[in-house]
Amino acid sequence: MSTLLRSHFADTLMDPEHPVLLGLVDIDGGGSKVFLNGVSVAKREYLLPDSRGSWAILYEDGCQRLTGAFAPQALPVGTDLETVTAIGGLVSDSPKRTWQELEEISPAVPDLGSRIKLTALERAIQHALPYLEEACARPKAYLKFETMRVYVSQARRMPARAASYLAAHTEDWERPTLLSVQPKRVLAEVREDEFDIYENRLAVRLVDHLLRVVGPRIAEVSRAQRILAELLDYSGSTRGSHWRAKRICSLWAETVTAEQGEKRARNTLDQLIAIRQRLLALKDSALYRSIPLRADVSDSLKMTNILATDPVYRHVAILWLEWSRNTARRQKPPAQVFGEYRGFCDAFKRYCLLLVVRALSQLGISAQMPEERRAFGAGARVRLSKADLTLSVTASGLIELSAKGQIMISFLPLPAALNRARTDEELELWLSQVSAGVHGVGVGPDRVVLYLSSLVGGSRTLSLAANRYLQTVGNEPSLLSGRKFGLMPVSPWEIDCVERVARCLRWALTAAELRSFPASVRAALPASLTTMPPWLFRVGNELRVLRHPRPHERRGFDIDAVWETAKRTLATAEDEERRLNGVERRGRTPHHERKALAQDAARSRADVRTARTAFYQVDTFKREIERILADHSDVSNCPACGSAADTANGYKHDAKFYEFTCGDCKAQWGVRTCRCCGMRVPFLEIGSTIAIHDRGPGWIDRYVGRDVLAIPLGDGRYECSACGKAV
Ligand SMILES: [Zn+2]
Ligand SMILES: [Zn+2]
Repeated sequence: MSTLLRSHFADTLMDPEHPVLLGLVDIDGGGSKVFLNGVSVAKREYLLPDSRGSWAILYEDGCQRLTGAFAPQALPVGTDLETVTAIGGLVSDSPKRTWQELEEISPAVPDLGSRIKLTALERAIQHALPYLEEACARPKAYLKFETMRVYVSQARRMPARAASYLAAHTEDWERPTLLSVQPKRVLAEVREDEFDIYENRLAVRLVDHLLRVVGPRIAEVSRAQRILAELLDYSGSTRGSHWRAKRICSLWAETVTAEQGEKRARNTLDQLIAIRQRLLALKDSALYRSIPLRADVSDSLKMTNILATDPVYRHVAILWLEWSRNTARRQKPPAQVFGEYRGFCDAFKRYCLLLVVRALSQLGISAQMPEERRAFGAGARVRLSKADLTLSVTASGLIELSAKGQIMISFLPLPAALNRARTDEELELWLSQVSAGVHGVGVGPDRVVLYLSSLVGGSRTLSLAANRYLQTVGNEPSLLSGRKFGLMPVSPWEIDCVERVARCLRWALTAAELRSFPASVRAALPASLTTMPPWLFRVGNELRVLRHPRPHERRGFDIDAVWETAKRTLATAEDEERRLNGVERRGRTPHHERKALAQDAARSRADVRTARTAFYQVDTFKREIERILADHSDVSNCPACGSAADTANGYKHDAKFYEFTCGDCKAQWGVRTCRCCGMRVPFLEIGSTIAIHDRGPGWIDRYVGRDVLAIPLGDGRYECSACGKAV
């Protein structure tokens, strides 16, 4: 009997030695009941952390115990946990979970507008903070008298036994006089202020508790403020692609208006920072230092005389009550921690599905039958509006886009914050686990791990190369260093996640479409076709369709007329053959005419054969052209703005490349062939990458968004997606 740790996405066995990444490893009890962190687990289940970030598996009979730890950095922080779970909740709460319903759920931080306001507790802190400061500056104290030996000059009040004590201790004498002694030291009652009383402990511990409330809130509001500032920046500036800016702003407009929101967030943030500074100052007060750090008080308030009546301490008590109402400091039971992480992992999958649905609909693709009332979730398969495309979600949460049954791209949702690795070595260790986990999942290099991003713009302690690898579709061989999957950070707290996923989809879909041209025509050019249209191209003996013909070009193409003529010729020849056969069969032909008739019949059979061959050739050719045009998407429409390229002026080609230019937005797209490896590299240039000098991690998503294929190198050339050389 042994518990196996398997990859969540496949049946691969996982090594429990290394720190585990959340969402990557499953426990497979193998039919027997096991306990994970004290919670009973019956079937295959996520390996989840306890409240300290460790895991422990215990068998029912108690004879075997396995333990290990999670990579603490990669675990979600409070705000991630909360927002992702909330979005996942919106998805699972939508009544039918149809495509349309999913399209209406925003993948951005829910209720961003209310998060940037001060909470009731924070307003209470603001109100009561002067009283807390007063209590710390002039604390109440018990008067305490202690008896000790002091110099005579310091003695104020002497206890009754001072004289007898002095008589017995000659070392305290200055010198004896004639009648008595002159004392050097005497026993005296010394007054001391005793600050370590319940009320002061309460005040001091309240300072600690409030700091623990304000800290995460500052992080949350500054995250929100950064989002809003970025949005404001996009709506106002011309930096990067204006298409991208427009899409992002319209997505976030569902949540909050950037301008008012940003001002409000900044204001809230300033107030929170001021509160924290004042609280930190209290930690430096004499009172705070006079109360031992370990002197704790229980959460429930004991109402004393001072707390009830003192004009200062009364407010401290009120604030304590407000705090304890809002926060539960109790240790969460293991089942609750288990449930929270479990819910988070599931919610993250739903969040990723939401991103894919959003990104697809942004690319103009939706479910084929929007009225279809089938719930869309794990195990579902939906046919999409674009020919032959299906989107499916496996039980393990893998999101796959396939065309004609072949997987184009798979997304693997991984709720671990990979970009919080502290060093390149740590990241390498984590990535080797991801590698093992995704081994055998999907096919080809178009696998993208969507991981939880907890950091904006790259970690400062990672190298540039590592940071850049953390955000790639997988078409940059210079970054991949042999790995077979791309990585994309996603988080409700970052504004361009839909763009990032759309870029992955664009690479999978548009690249394949562009690569399908020029398409080889598997039929000979009919001899009767006199003119060669501009969208057909002859290379040696082979014929290729370069692009879809414009409607007028299709009409001007005489294949239909040629086909009609060939058909008519064949019919005429067949009629003639049938007539002559009939004459022969009736046998009434005079003897001397029979030879001529036989010759005519033979000629007509030959004519039929020739006409049939000619018709067959034209028909095969016509069908082949029609098949190609129907099977392939029209790539002459601009991927950025959708308008049709002018095929007379906006199209160039030779045997190794082709390129369209959009007459409206000047975007260029097409395919080049790599001189080094022969790979056909699709590219799309919308004119905004030329002036970009910032090539830091994630620069493509920051400036261009989804409107890119091969990675532009800036000098009009692109990175070959197979060998990394410039094309
Ligand atoms: Zn265009
Ligand atoms: Zn190459």
